[in-house]
Amino acid sequence: MKALVKTQKGKGYLELKEVAVPEIGDNEVLIKVQSAGICGTDIHIYNDEFPYWPPVILGHEFSGTIAATGKDVADWKVGDRVVGEPHTMACGKCYLCRTGNPQICASKRSPGWGIDGAFAAYMRWPETRLLHRVPESLQLEEAVLCEPLANVVSDVALNNIITVGDVVVVAGTGPIGIMAAVVARQAGARHVILIGRNEFKMAIARNLSAINQVLSISSNDVVVSVMELTDGRGADVFIDASGSAQALAVGAHLIRKLGTFTAIGFSDNDTIDFPYRQLMMKGVKFFFNISTKFESWDRSLALLEGGYIPYDKIVTGKRKIDDWQGVFKNPRSRESLKDVFVF
Ligand SMILES: [Zn+2]
Ligand SMILES: [Zn+2]
Repeated sequence: MKALVKTQKGKGYLELKEVAVPEIGDNEVLIKVQSAGICGTDIHIYNDEFPYWPPVILGHEFSGTIAATGKDVADWKVGDRVVGEPHTMACGKCYLCRTGNPQICASKRSPGWGIDGAFAAYMRWPETRLLHRVPESLQLEEAVLCEPLANVVSDVALNNIITVGDVVVVAGTGPIGIMAAVVARQAGARHVILIGRNEFKMAIARNLSAINQVLSISSNDVVVSVMELTDGRGADVFIDASGSAQALAVGAHLIRKLGTFTAIGFSDNDTIDFPYRQLMMKGVKFFFNISTKFESWDRSLALLEGGYIPYDKIVTGKRKIDDWQGVFKNPRSRESLKDVFVF
């Protein structure tokens, strides 16, 4: 089978290679990948900006069907439709694992950067307890959004940062920003403003009923809108899904005193300017987020099944894996919101 492999450390070193279909152990399953989403993280691995253990097949966002089961696997059978939490190889013994946080265990090696992932027709899945069954009425190809959506659900909904009636501003018009705006609405926001700078992506967001306004980050309309809506107080919640210093500055300006500021975007840079004094003087609560928890997966599948997440608007590129260079080269300048490899 063809597999997209990061062959060694360094910038680039991504190759479409012919590899064997993986063997599975007694407690493992083989998954026939149906769809695999290309994520900002994959671009960061391509550019050597995110941890990975080469040689490794990339791809951590997937939906698929079980194609074979090891002899000791009792709960799953061939044909079951699945998605999976990428918390493989968490140790189960450290402080984080034992406090219910295997998603940030130092031993964790996710499919797609720590062990072989989903950018191939088949993948070995070592820990069946991390699988989730895709509901019958949900298309398998739509379930590919479950992993990024589970991040959003963890970061925007399950940590209770939004109270019913809030005015929420989201920065970043990538798939995470757009899904964060949709989930913020579901979580009780009365008014959701999305800010960005990419016209193609902003146009997609303007077609979504969950989002009240889509505005350019550099326009003064953002400030005017927020202040009008809040009697001059400022936004209750600011969600940054861009990792950009400009967005943090705008957020610090817009957020109300004692508001909530949450960062869910990976930054292109190791350090960025941070509006420390302004956020401090407003007494803002600031949260960072990483990865997902069990509960966010079930809720994400339910949101997808219920039709709350506009898959057709978010996935703008369906590609064969042979066409991988079209996604990985010049990702910033392409007119696409989310690309998915279909097998
Ligand atoms: Zn991802
Ligand atoms: Zn651990």
